Amino acid sequence: MRWVRYEHRGKVLLGIDEEKGVRHLNDLNLPEELAQAIDGGHMDRWIELQSLWHPLRDELAKAPFLPRPEVRLLAPFGGRRKNLFCVGRNYKAHAEESAGFFGTAPGDLPAYPVFFTKPYTAIIGPGEAIRFSRRVTQAVDYEGELAVVIGRQGRNLREEEAMDYVFGFTILNDVSARDVQKRHGQYFKGKSLDTFAPLGPALVEKEDLPPVEELELRTWVNGELRQKASPKDLLFSIPQLLASLSEGMTLEPGDILATGTPEGVGLGLQPPQFLKGGDQVRIAITGIGVLENRVQEEEP
Ligand code: MG
Repeated sequence: MRWVRYEHRGKVLLGIDEEKGVRHLNDLNLPEELAQAIDGGHMDRWIELQSLWHPLRDELAKAPFLPRPEVRLLAPFGGRRKNLFCVGRNYKAHAEESAGFFGTAPGDLPAYPVFFTKPYTAIIGPGEAIRFSRRVTQAVDYEGELAVVIGRQGRNLREEEAMDYVFGFTILNDVSARDVQKRHGQYFKGKSLDTFAPLGPALVEKEDLPPVEELELRTWVNGELRQKASPKDLLFSIPQLLASLSEGMTLEPGDILATGTPEGVGLGLQPPQFLKGGDQVRIAITGIGVLENRVQEEEP
């Protein structure tokens, strides 16, 4: 199923995304806990309650449709107060294209996943604007990424079992202020500005997607194809990332782990090309959909 968080007549809700529209679950006669998760759009709670709604899947799949023009899709996890987990330099070609800017040797690949986080306050949904002021940054870049969503609590996961803890996948644009990233000597600040985490359009259950190795990620800026890659080229695979991240650290339902960006970011172009007001960034991943956001410059 493709789960979405959306706004309808001033209310934020959870629903099922299908071609014809969004299935509206709010009028179904569901157990109180489920109704509370739907009303308010609490996706992490919805994932936690899987065992309650799994037996009701057939009923949920028959809920009435709301036509597309009546709904506005939001980020699947907008109300969640927990940072997004991310990993840097997780595709070889991207690690190499960014080596010059960050002063690392081109052949110098990480021996362990380079984890960092982005705060929930940076999350925006499909169609919302990526905003920045030139007073804060003059080097805003996009990063198309496949994001994993955790389905159940776990710690010290073994690689062989790690995928059992995955609920599904969505898309993250790991928007990055390269100059801020560089001058603070750490990823966090430059990747955490408000609006720098476009997320969505849907959270797709892993059973409804082809195997990860068969997915394709593409990113366009103003219609020009910039990134085209497959997660099969990840330096650290999803099971390896989850095993490493969960070592001594609890993962919870609704946790998001973005798996890193492939080559083709603005930083890697000769000369580098950063985002400016009016640009449109479009990221597509097989079976998940399209996450599109425009860029808006704010007054200094
Ligand atoms: Mg990234």
